Amino acid sequence: MKPKTMIQKEVARLSATLRPISPKQTEWAYTNCVEHIAYRAKSGMLTCPDCGHSWKSGDGTLCDTLEGCICPHCGAELKVHDTRRRTQKGVRYFCILTTCRGYQVIRVAQAHYSSKKGEPMKFYCTEVVQRWISPDGKVTDMALLRTFPSYYCDQWSLYSDMEVRPYNSLYDDVCKWSEVYPLIRTIPQLRRNGFKGDFYGISPVLLFKRLLSDTWIETLMKAGEIEDMKYFILNPRNAEMLWSSYLIARRHHYKINSLELWCDYLQMLNNLGQDIRNPKNICPANFIDAHDRAMRRIEAKRMKERTENERRWEA
Ligand SMILES: [Zn+2]
Repeated sequence: MKPKTMIQKEVARLSATLRPISPKQTEWAYTNCVEHIAYRAKSGMLTCPDCGHSWKSGDGTLCDTLEGCICPHCGAELKVHDTRRRTQKGVRYFCILTTCRGYQVIRVAQAHYSSKKGEPMKFYCTEVVQRWISPDGKVTDMALLRTFPSYYCDQWSLYSDMEVRPYNSLYDDVCKWSEVYPLIRTIPQLRRNGFKGDFYGISPVLLFKRLLSDTWIETLMKAGEIEDMKYFILNPRNAEMLWSSYLIARRHHYKINSLELWCDYLQMLNNLGQDIRNPKNICPANFIDAHDRAMRRIEAKRMKERTENERRWEA
């Protein structure tokens, strides 16, 4: 797709200036993203999937199975599986977090590995997606073309160009599946907004985007309220609707044991026409009782609505 907007044009131009994934990064991916599993035959012979070397295990099979082993030839740390298979192959994703001219960039590479017993492993990486996040949280995607439109998400057309492409949820997925290369570079806005290098199990794209565009996420990150932050990131509708109530409750030093249940409770109050900014409503002393009561009232309301509907049908 030809870049159209200003930001797309800029991203396309800057993307062309990035250096390719380095040999060091590729090597890290080879060591950390691929499972290195030695072939162990019935005879007890082990074969290294990395270099192809074979040797007789000295430590006994149980020890190898539990602790893994080290290839005496290339030094690779290996897991050990009993197998009659003679090949292993797979696809993994990893990403490199870097910066470029004020943008936070997430570069996702696909790594292919294939091993044939007795031969050195074949391994190659291709960069398939780049996500460019502006300091105010706008995302522009660059990507290779995919060869199949839907199901075969691992099929990238490796000879296509890295181009600005319309949003595709697959880009979210490959980012989520990616192992993160440990040398991270971040833009100052992220650090200012509280990012200290930990993703807390959230995908980097999601965390970065939200941390740059939502002040509430920033507030929670800085306050160290990580569980609440995660909940609001994954439930943006609740965050949008209940954020002010959440702040009011916090200001009243109200202890929320389960944010999920509490949000559920507030949704019910709102549904019943109650003021969800009134601390009397949203900070009940006995939460479980209050939640149960609200549930019963909602149920009664639904029943009433159903009866009225039926009556209207009959009339
Ligand atoms: Zn080896």
